[in-house]
Amino acid sequence: MPWNITGNARAVAAIARSLASENPPHAYLFAGPARVGKASLALRLAQALNCEHTVGAQGLAPLRPDDTADVAPCLQCTPCTRIAKFLHADVQTVQLEINDDGEPKTAIAVDQVREVERSVALNPFEGRTRVVIIDPAHLLTDEAQNAFLKTLEEPPPHVVIVLIAVREEKLLPTIHSRCRRVEFRLVPVGEIEGALAADGVEPDRAALLARLAGGRPGWALEMARDPRAFERRRAVLETAHSIVSLPIHKRMSLAEKMTEDFRSGREAMYSQLADWAAWWRDVMLSAAESQAELTNVDRREEIRDLAARLDVQRARAAAEACSTALWQIDRNAASRLVVEVMLLNWPKL
Ligand SMILES: [Zn+2]
Repeated sequence: MPWNITGNARAVAAIARSLASENPPHAYLFAGPARVGKASLALRLAQALNCEHTVGAQGLAPLRPDDTADVAPCLQCTPCTRIAKFLHADVQTVQLEINDDGEPKTAIAVDQVREVERSVALNPFEGRTRVVIIDPAHLLTDEAQNAFLKTLEEPPPHVVIVLIAVREEKLLPTIHSRCRRVEFRLVPVGEIEGALAADGVEPDRAALLARLAGGRPGWALEMARDPRAFERRRAVLETAHSIVSLPIHKRMSLAEKMTEDFRSGREAMYSQLADWAAWWRDVMLSAAESQAELTNVDRREEIRDLAARLDVQRARAAAEACSTALWQIDRNAASRLVVEVMLLNWPKL
């Protein structure tokens, strides 16, 4: 398995085919849900384009159209390992900048795009191909997208651009039409479990994490590699269980504290709200005596206990409050207000 990517075999095959083709694209759009492997495959693509052992990749003679084996990166040579460690001078990721308060900005502005334009004009320093990965591309401002059009249309020959987007509808049609679209999907439980096992995770834990991952191998691997992350999830779910007994003023102070804690990262806030949404969905399913499989299989007893004390309507209202909060956070609403309203809409026992 030379590409070493969990799931999304069609996306991997599409990349391999395009690398082996006579007219490989110079710009890609990787579209699909968070944590399913888009950024990992973007790095693999950068490796394939600079690996010492790939043939037929961009800049070299094309292979026969069906001969895609030799375009996979070896993952062992100097360029491959330097790219994996983010040390390679020709592979650049454009992300949200951090503002003076230490918080990530809410968009990728036109200045960052102009910087990219300057750097792609230079020849590669150490490899064959300059690769620019824009992640998250759906947070490029319209002005930044417009400024990027010319580069996307006619990038210099030694340049490949990868746009990574969870919400591709935020990209202008003119951006879409200049990119080869590669679609990513949620990954089946069995494939995530296999990847965790191959990573040395013991079988019971691999089975649990794969089920909890909701199709996101990136989440599962992070949980497996970082015991503190799994501990954080436990704490997050225990808070959910206890909040239903809290009076309103305590919920308000909790909202304030959460907003303080997450000042440095909306990503962490988003992930906590997503955990709560999945938790409430489980409570709702359990209250409705549904046969559908629960997400939080390791917390079945607490979920049943809470479901027994609530009716379906109240559990559903809480689940919907979480979804609304996620939607609002995604659109950059003021996080404290969003969390306050959500917690007020949770049931009181
Ligand atoms: Zn290599």
